[in-house]
Amino acid sequence: MATKRISRKEAKARAHETLMRLRKQHPDAHCELVHRDAFELLVATVLSAQTTDVAVNKATPALFKKYPTAQALAKAETSDVESLISTIGMYRQKTKNILGLARKLIAEHGGHVPSTLDALVALPGVGRKTANVVLGVIFGQPEGVVVDTHVQRISQRLGWTSSTEPADIEKNLCSILPREDWDIASHTIIFHGRRICSARKPQCDKCSVNDACPSAFNAEHVGRKVRSTSATPKHG
Ligand code: SF4
Repeated sequence: MATKRISRKEAKARAHETLMRLRKQHPDAHCELVHRDAFELLVATVLSAQTTDVAVNKATPALFKKYPTAQALAKAETSDVESLISTIGMYRQKTKNILGLARKLIAEHGGHVPSTLDALVALPGVGRKTANVVLGVIFGQPEGVVVDTHVQRISQRLGWTSSTEPADIEKNLCSILPREDWDIASHTIIFHGRRICSARKPQCDKCSVNDACPSAFNAEHVGRKVRSTSATPKHG
């Protein structure tokens, strides 16, 4: 697919305009992991790796009812936590992670969720993506753009990146979007991916930016993961 080169300034202006229009289409865009505080969001985000927010939201009410704080979760029995989250993929490893995370929050942060990237990624099961969800949603100061499967696909379709690697895509997005848009950009794009620009059947006719999108009406094969097996993709 040949694309005409544009200046960086022009790319930034276009990305800003596109994001503004997508925000108008999804004014209620927000993190869809149900949570009441930083601790619950951190745990829910760790649980959401390789699975859908819907699956996590089904399991967390019972988990948080029994273990509402880091103090409570730190004392939990592994088998009990496993049974509470057994409907979530990789629940054994995730149980280890959230128990370790709760204990480290108690040991090193007084039971509170830290507000820096370095401290967050030092917690079990917490990578850059999870840390930026918490930094953006709770503290309003993400250190990057959260790149999930939707952001990955739609950034490619919109021509905001030509990379397929999340780390490179994040760099590309951070370079064309102003810092104050990093948090809302990921929520808006994820909303768009869940409701309009799906992997298999993007509804370009219902998309508010179809006049600006280089993949419009021909996007089915853009931004999709190349698969050699019939494994079912996860699109939370
Ligand atoms: S025009 Fe189509 S491919 Fe482009 S962002 Fe909209 S729905 Fe996605």
